[in-house]
Amino acid sequence: MNLKDYIRDIPNFPKEGIIFKDITTLLKDAGALKESIRQMAEPFRDKGITKVCGIESRGFIFGMPLAIELNAGFVPIRKEGKLPWTKISQEYVLEYGTDRIEIHKDAIEDGEKTLVVDDLLATGGTAEASLKLLAKLNANVVGFAFLIELEFLNGRKLIENQVEELTALFKY
Ligand code: AMP
Repeated sequence: MNLKDYIRDIPNFPKEGIIFKDITTLLKDAGALKESIRQMAEPFRDKGITKVCGIESRGFIFGMPLAIELNAGFVPIRKEGKLPWTKISQEYVLEYGTDRIEIHKDAIEDGEKTLVVDDLLATGGTAEASLKLLAKLNANVVGFAFLIELEFLNGRKLIENQVEELTALFKY
């Protein structure tokens, strides 16, 4: 099974010039779904991870099964204004303007071994913001697991020297 064949390219979505990597074609196939979760979990099996953080919203899709696979708890990192309780937040810069991600203040214990999950690494801005956010909670971020990495955008450079392990199943 070549898992990469299950990713669909959508040119010019959500705007002109972007090739959107559509993962729904992988998610709907029972075998490809199971195998992609197994492969994403593989490098982290013996790392003592106790929390998996998924970045809203496609990071939730992959983060939750990874948490179960690694016998860890799941923590959502959400967009501004969604979390109901006391939270910590981190602003980051987008192509136009800024955005903000948030996490509950009591989501992670001091020094807890944490894995951050998202579907795709592009410029790395979101992942870098999640590192800064988790640093405010004194989490020990062991690594990042992505399904896809857009290598030509060099997002890896922003984060790889701050973690033990950064993996992506497919690279473009
Ligand atoms: P970045 O902060 O630039 O690394 O962007 C990462 C976030 O944007 C991820 O949560 C992705 O889901 C989304 N994203 C960026 N580029 C694409 C793309 N070409 N196809 C699908 N999702 C993308």
